[in-house]
Amino acid sequence: MRRLWAGFGLAALCGALVLIAAHQVEGPPAYRETLYVFGTLVEIEIRGEDRDTARTASAAVGRLLQELHSDWHAWRPGGALHAVNTAIAQGRTVQVDERLAELLQEGRRLSCASGGHFNPAIGGLVGLWGFHADTPPQGAPPGPDAIAALVAADPRMTDLRLEGHRIGSVNPAVRLDLGGYAKGAALDLAAAELRAHGIADAVLNAGGDVNVLGTHSQRPWRVAIRDPFAWGVVGAIALRPGEVLYTSGNYERYLDHDSERFAHIIDPRTGYPVREIVSVSVLDSSGIRADAAATALSVAGRTGWPDVAASMGITAVLMITDTGRLMATPAMLARLEPAGDSLPGPVELIKLPARGTALSCGNGRDNPPRY
Ligand code: ADP
Ligand code: MG
Repeated sequence: MRRLWAGFGLAALCGALVLIAAHQVEGPPAYRETLYVFGTLVEIEIRGEDRDTARTASAAVGRLLQELHSDWHAWRPGGALHAVNTAIAQGRTVQVDERLAELLQEGRRLSCASGGHFNPAIGGLVGLWGFHADTPPQGAPPGPDAIAALVAADPRMTDLRLEGHRIGSVNPAVRLDLGGYAKGAALDLAAAELRAHGIADAVLNAGGDVNVLGTHSQRPWRVAIRDPFAWGVVGAIALRPGEVLYTSGNYERYLDHDSERFAHIIDPRTGYPVREIVSVSVLDSSGIRADAAATALSVAGRTGWPDVAASMGITAVLMITDTGRLMATPAMLARLEPAGDSLPGPVELIKLPARGTALSCGNGRDNPPRY
């Protein structure tokens, strides 16, 4: 998640997605509102509605997002997820609401499909690296022994036991951190809330992760992908109704120590932050899947990502490595328009393997999954 503190400075601004300034369009003026939730600014823009309808819908979305933010918060006491983590640590089960139960079930499916690269059960590691705080982590990185102990404890989403709405875990090392897909899940629910209010034309932009409804009056919503190495953008995509575009980056939340930078996306196999990938953008029809996939593909790295994308059912990916290499799938390249005369560099076309080679519920190691 992009946090306000990360919003300062050049590096922090790189890689986020921005909506290209709207063209003049016919009809009622756009209604816009900005909220601060999920550690990021969420912009809502509604078109083609009278002001009262748009304001009512937008207020409902605001209430929903605030509620999800506190329910799903990874470390703040008082929320539903915090109660789950406390119960798991104490070997108890706890009752959750339908929404959280579904989110965890979906998290387990996505984690399995990603071959464990996306693993919301590794909250212990995320916390150990200092990312369970509202301010950036400071000081030295954690010691190798502490990291190795948490990796050896092997927390997985398949350790969860869900009976009705009661949840527990067979592994007390599971600590849930939904930061890798909560924003996607929340924007999907927010889009559904807008539709329930009769809104047909809108965009939700959570710090660069975008869901669209409709077509921005007569034209598609256009979204730019920022260049992580320079001011400016890599390119832009005209989103079709119902599409989403999510970007995971290594450049916005990190621990800086002795001129080394440790990102907030952790490889569950090693317990260390990912390095090779600077930015991953996923174009899809589901926010929750795109968000989880962007995180998973960052972890899978330069050579592993095509298998993970295929297994998760993702087709359109743009990948930027730490050496500035640009890679894209055919489905992404077909949609990516240069922002100026051309894209900032040559783009390697990467064909994905056929789907059906689904990955398993492990976390990348060779031991069998526990069910
Ligand atoms: P952003 O929020 O910048 O878009 P991501 O969607 O990749 O980035 O989410 C990163 C967050 O996901 C981290 O802050 C942490 O809460 C959580 N996370 C870190 N590593 C993993 C992982 N391997 N699998 C699932 N979630 C992770
Ligand atoms: Mg993500």
